Amino acid sequence: PSIKAPGMKKATTLTVAVKCRPLTERERGRDIVRVHDGKEVLVLDPDLSKDYLDRIQNRTKEKRYRFDHAFGPESSNLDVYNKCISSTISGVVQGLNATIFAYGSTGSGKTYTMVGTRDDPGLMVLSLHTIFELINKDSSSDEFEVNCSYLEVYNEVIYDLLEKSSAHLELREDPTQGIVVAGLRSIKVRSADKILELLNLGNSRRKTESTEANATSSRSHAVLEITVKRRQKRKYPNQVMQGKLALVDLAGSERASETNSGGQKLRDGANINRSLLALANCINALGKQQKKGLAYVPYRNSKLTRILKDGLSGNSQTVMVAAVSPADCQYHHTVNTLKYANRAK
Ligand code: ADP
Ligand code: MG
Repeated sequence: PSIKAPGMKKATTLTVAVKCRPLTERERGRDIVRVHDGKEVLVLDPDLSKDYLDRIQNRTKEKRYRFDHAFGPESSNLDVYNKCISSTISGVVQGLNATIFAYGSTGSGKTYTMVGTRDDPGLMVLSLHTIFELINKDSSSDEFEVNCSYLEVYNEVIYDLLEKSSAHLELREDPTQGIVVAGLRSIKVRSADKILELLNLGNSRRKTESTEANATSSRSHAVLEITVKRRQKRKYPNQVMQGKLALVDLAGSERASETNSGGQKLRDGANINRSLLALANCINALGKQQKKGLAYVPYRNSKLTRILKDGLSGNSQTVMVAAVSPADCQYHHTVNTLKYANRAK
């Protein structure tokens, strides 16, 4: 079902965007060129019509996909934000839930997209900025409170990224709050100023482990949750409206398709696989729901999907940004990511 909130255009529940990062120095460099051609393998053209795609597809072997939005190497995080995210954020300030996640193989640009840099702040930072902009602009006498938590799911265990401790946190069903992570630190924020430092500190605590493909590989899912509470003092002094925004930097998706090392790593891979599969199944069901009406959404199959439940159900909005590299040596991963994103539509 689609939602209509006051002052918002009718919005669909699920939006899928693809973002292709620029080639890195290393990919342009010799070691890659010796093995591959060092060519870019992806063309992103948001203006291609469906007719055109059908005709092309019949004539060449080239595979083409169509998504709600497509961003090339020259696009900034702000471009992605403006096109796919900003309208969702106004909903959150009005009490709606939303989930935004970055999917893709290791090195495809997920963390860059979500966290970003000082010069090119990512979706987590930009979203929080807008939330405070909207709150500061609000002319009603409403009171607002903004809280943030930052956690990771690694091996189906939940850790707090805002704490040094590596305690295992458990999920609980709360009669009023729904599914909550017991003991998770939640900090009250008054501006978006310090968020980038906070995220970088949190990210430095994420579990990384070397894999065959990359020196370090993020094998955990990181979830930033921003809650906006709004109390309409005059009209309903005893009621609090709450909007929740979850921004998720998913673990490298290569694990979902290939699990090639033993022991700890195998379990690791299997669990990441499970979370990503569970998420894919939920997203699929949401897609069906959008097209055909009610469908069962299987949230319970992983920690990640249980945590994200509120932001994936009811009248919430979901945006998936599929991150890909343009490098030909990443062709295999790129195709897998596009297939995953295509299934989500
Ligand atoms: P992931 O989180 O998917 O593993 P990263 O976000 O760490 O990937 O990106 C991999 C590399 O590519 C990093 O060095 C990052 O700085 C660079 N990168 C990603 N996206 C961009 C971009 N849009 N512009 C410039 N560099 C980028
Ligand atoms: Mg990363």
